Amino acid sequence: MKIGFIGLGNMGGHMARNLATAGHDVAGFDVTGVQIEGVTQAASSAEAATGADVVITMLPNGQILRSVAAEIIPSMQKGACFIDCSTVDVESARAVADDCAANELLAVDAPVSGGIGGADAGTLTFMAGGSNAAFAVANPLFDIMGQKAVHCGESGAGQAAKICNNMILGATMIVTCEAFALADKLGLDRQKMFDVVSTSSGYSWSMNAYCPAPGVGPVSPADNDYQPGFAAELMLKDLRLSQQAANAVGASTPLGGYATEEYAKFVESEDGLGKDFSAMLPRFSKINQT
Ligand code: NAD
Repeated sequence: MKIGFIGLGNMGGHMARNLATAGHDVAGFDVTGVQIEGVTQAASSAEAATGADVVITMLPNGQILRSVAAEIIPSMQKGACFIDCSTVDVESARAVADDCAANELLAVDAPVSGGIGGADAGTLTFMAGGSNAAFAVANPLFDIMGQKAVHCGESGAGQAAKICNNMILGATMIVTCEAFALADKLGLDRQKMFDVVSTSSGYSWSMNAYCPAPGVGPVSPADNDYQPGFAAELMLKDLRLSQQAANAVGASTPLGGYATEEYAKFVESEDGLGKDFSAMLPRFSKINQT
């Protein structure tokens, strides 16, 4: 397939490389001018999109996605497929899909889970929204870049699944961290806490797979001085998207709202910027000491 890939950052660079390694003809563009092994460098987004069967975007936010989409949709050939893998607001995903439909293009919103390691290894999970015809075009590419793709529904459903998942993740990480900090104050050994909770009803991905306590449970960013992993500011971005979506549809998400406030304080007023999102544990430990 002839593929245009726009946004070759921490995630997109690996994804584009994996597609090229699998034998696809990939033309890439990023405003930084970065070059990726096996990927032809295009001079602009429009050049990367021209003549492509599929265009994939992996961009920072919905505003940038909308501006890139406005630039490339007129250059895309009829019947081609626009796959956006960025994490963006549901409204932007649906607006881009509408523009695609008006220009006789297929569209899939397909945010990912699995982080930079998953992008590198080709083991991402894709959550896709769009028509059956669009998903059928995108799915073989998801197989190369990832290990699982779920077709969640019509346009916007992929973004909806992503922000609901990450709202759960943000809230469970906070409560897991505050529980560890409480256990410390109560004199309970962290390893014993893990041994009990990881096999009891308090278990979760945050506890069992990504334990925020160093030296306890599987290896995680806590064992690497809380270097991300999944950065606290990216969690804040996703939590804000969840609250934006909740406000738009009038859904009550009190814990999601509280988690957003806590990550906003951590990232914007404290020292959380650039740390893994599990660094909430040393944050609570510090608060508990004062
Ligand atoms: P990044 O900032 O490393 O990459 C984004 C790239 O887009 C940058 O290289 C930037 O130069 C480029 N870009 C910006 N504006 C552009 C434009 N107009 N035209 C062309 N290129 C442009 O970010 P990332 O970590 O690769 O994340 C990308 C997306 O994936 C985000 O939406 C993020 O929320 C999501 N995501 C990231 C992770 C992660 O662990 N990093 C995990 C899941 C999802």
